[in-house]
Amino acid sequence: STQETTPQICVVGSGPAGFYTAQHLLKHPQAHVDIYEKQPVPFGLVRFGVAPDHPEVKNVINTFTQTAHCGRCAFWGNVEVGRDVTVPELREAYHAVVLSYGAEDHRALEIPGEELPGVCSARAFVGWYNGLPENQELKPDLSCDTAVILGQGNVALDVARILLTPPEHLEKTDITKAALDVLRQSRVKTVWLVGRRGPLQVAFTIKELREMIQLPGTRPILDPVDFLGLQDRLKEVPRPRKRLTELLLRTAMEKPGPEEAARRASASRAWGLRFFRSPQQVLPSPDGQGAAGVRLAVTRLEGVGEATRAVPTGAMEDLPCGLVLSSIGYKSRPIDPSVPFDSKLGVIPNVEGRVTDVPGLYCSGWVKRGPTGVIATTMTDSFLTGQMLLQDLKAGLLPSGPRPGSAAIQALLSSRGVQPVSFSDWEKLDAEEVARGQGTGRPREKLVDPQEMLHLLGH
Ligand code: FAD
Repeated sequence: STQETTPQICVVGSGPAGFYTAQHLLKHPQAHVDIYEKQPVPFGLVRFGVAPDHPEVKNVINTFTQTAHCGRCAFWGNVEVGRDVTVPELREAYHAVVLSYGAEDHRALEIPGEELPGVCSARAFVGWYNGLPENQELKPDLSCDTAVILGQGNVALDVARILLTPPEHLEKTDITKAALDVLRQSRVKTVWLVGRRGPLQVAFTIKELREMIQLPGTRPILDPVDFLGLQDRLKEVPRPRKRLTELLLRTAMEKPGPEEAARRASASRAWGLRFFRSPQQVLPSPDGQGAAGVRLAVTRLEGVGEATRAVPTGAMEDLPCGLVLSSIGYKSRPIDPSVPFDSKLGVIPNVEGRVTDVPGLYCSGWVKRGPTGVIATTMTDSFLTGQMLLQDLKAGLLPSGPRPGSAAIQALLSSRGVQPVSFSDWEKLDAEEVARGQGTGRPREKLVDPQEMLHLLGH
């Protein structure tokens, strides 16, 4: 009977979505949950996205570790679904499959000059300083004095902050040593964050903005003209947006007190927000081997509320810089031809986490909702997916007979020469990283080479 059958469920991806979905599924007293992850190490963007100077955000790893320690949960790292094993193979082996593989691509600017050296995605830059193996070759050239970030969200602020933080303040973080060495040599003095729309439409949040305004050795550059008339519109906006805008307004319009004025006057670095500017082209340097600036179309706003759009006025402006980082969003990739994918929205079509028209297939996290929202948002939506799956299980909507689960998949993987990394393997790597950080006062020195990781594990 179904009552005696152990529900075998697998989750693809071990970021917040994967771990929070697993956590919810394990509330079922018999369910067994396998988490497949393409990296040899777990935790997705908590390890490879969250900024190194925000260690408190990474405390969720403790919860994920507890989940992984549950006897009915297993982690299988170093297994790329879609390459090492297919989704149909997983669906054969399990009663249900949850896709939680995040958003691994970046949205392209789609403007001329995007391919020039000196232009890269914020995604790659973040991956580089956080030790994501595929981005270790990036080695950005920070010999210019001005960097332009296209985008005004929290990722853009993370990147600006890392570029401008005095390197000695990053020494006690888990930023990679290679990145720290490059940042120590950096000549970047000014960082512009460019947005198509205005101060009322910025996508970053107040905590991150406040941190930026207070960044040591750095002063903000805001043009009061951009903020004229804004005070009157504050009544119309929701409270978080109102508080954020008030902070922007104060910073732009108010004369700072003597202490803050002195701090700003002695600052050797600066960051600024450029509003109402839409990138048209990355301008090449005279030798064509780098970026010399960004050509921006001046915009004005049309429409109200969330539907406010930027339309070009016809005016153009060149912003000189030697480094361009595009931070206009992440994007999910299709994982397998058998899985429906909405390439326009970049998500798997679903209703509350049930993949449209594919019984037994679910999704959670960024691949379900699109690449926005913090870890807490991802937690809520992953619990919801878990709940839907358990409901379907209870209602008898999932296959009833026993399923082999990981045993079948391990056989396939081993026939393909793939050696998975277990959670206790990860704990060995974790201990190695922590040991390498000791003595230098760093929480860890991240391993960045998958070959080295596998070698350390004797694979
Ligand atoms: P991910 O975290 O990306 O996890 C997806 C996982 O799936 C990855 O481990 C990936 O390797 C794996 N995977 C991908 N493809 C495959 C495959 N084919 N087979 C197997 N595995 C696969 N939120 C906060 O609350 N605070 C912050 O400070 C914060 N900072 C952020 C900074 C950056 C730069 C970014 C991009 C995001 C940040 N966020 C932050 C948001 C937070 O990271 C996301 O809400 C959350 O990580 C989304 O979870 P996810 O599991 O859907 O995706």
